Amino acid sequence: MDHERILGVFAHPDDADVGSGGTLAKFVEQGAHVSLLVATAGDAGGFKAEGQDQIAGVRMKEQRAAAAQLGITDVTFLGHMDGELRVTSSLVRDIVAQIRIHQPTLVITMSPEHNWTNLAASHPDHRAVGEAAIQAVYPASRNPFAFRELKASGMDPWMVEEVWLQGHHAPNHFVELSRAEVEKKVQAIQCHETQFQDMDFMTQYIWEVARQCAVSGGLGRDRYAEEFLRYSARE
Ligand SMILES: [Zn+2]
Repeated sequence: MDHERILGVFAHPDDADVGSGGTLAKFVEQGAHVSLLVATAGDAGGFKAEGQDQIAGVRMKEQRAAAAQLGITDVTFLGHMDGELRVTSSLVRDIVAQIRIHQPTLVITMSPEHNWTNLAASHPDHRAVGEAAIQAVYPASRNPFAFRELKASGMDPWMVEEVWLQGHHAPNHFVELSRAEVEKKVQAIQCHETQFQDMDFMTQYIWEVARQCAVSGGLGRDRYAEEFLRYSARE
């Protein structure tokens, strides 16, 4: 866990917490600065028609509360439309700008590949934000001639060293979590009240996935983990 500055790039409020909450909490405990970038306000979410026009504000509030459970106060929303995320120059540019501002050595984002055994992980917005983040990491954020207007406004090129993808079908990196870190993750997820109709079920699910990841990662039973596909973005 050799990173001091981490930028998480996600599609919706709750994505960071569900896929990486324990890992983000662990980075914060180790003294790293963790920032979250959320491309949409989750305005297509929720289960009730009543109050749906207010959902963006509610979900941004839920995400800030969830991040606080993990020790994160730096949360930026990009304001793209929920359900309509595509890999566009506009989305890539927005992520490049945030990479240059935050100067992370590690970007944690969502897998751009279909995971046929995990429908939720394969949501089109998730795959789009993951692909846009990958394109922002290499080559755009390090290339002074990409999105020239950013450099002109003082955002100098920056080279991210490593990328971790959550929700990937073939993870190669397992982060062991303590019980307390899984508890923080659960507390963060419980902040997303509009998203989980059966919070008891969701809580059990999070513990079960954490145990399964530990087994997949060879850590053994009664241990907890989160899993990623990790690759080097160094040239
Ligand atoms: Zn999502």
